[in-house]
Amino acid sequence: MNTLKGIYVLIIQVGKDVNVDVGALGKIAFIKGLYAYVGSAQTNMEQRIKRHLRKEKRKFWHIDYLLDNDSAKIVKVFFKKASKTEECRIAKPIDERSKPICGFGCSDCNCKSHLFQIENYRFMQETMQVFPVET
Ligand SMILES: [Zn+2]
Repeated sequence: MNTLKGIYVLIIQVGKDVNVDVGALGKIAFIKGLYAYVGSAQTNMEQRIKRHLRKEKRKFWHIDYLLDNDSAKIVKVFFKKASKTEECRIAKPIDERSKPICGFGCSDCNCKSHLFQIENYRFMQETMQVFPVET
């Protein structure tokens, strides 16, 4: 598992409506519900995902600000062995069935977002594997 690299999707439950200060993006209102965040780890994906699961850390990515909130919790993690170029290709079908949080997590690409408010994550089970991690 230590050599895994690829694209991952964090399924995040936001337990109540919250306003989160997301660094340079400013304050974003998240309504209670499920969110999917698409990221790429081209070295040691397991370590990256463990970092996402840890509350205590220096904030670096947009997602760190959301996950720092007491109401936000990762409930499931999906992954796919793939190169960095697949990251946006994986984000696209999620975008089509959900509501993007504009500008989130996509500073280095042309996507609207890499964070989406989703109804459910059943459709992801068809194309991605479940990452075996305690959430
Ligand atoms: Zn993108």
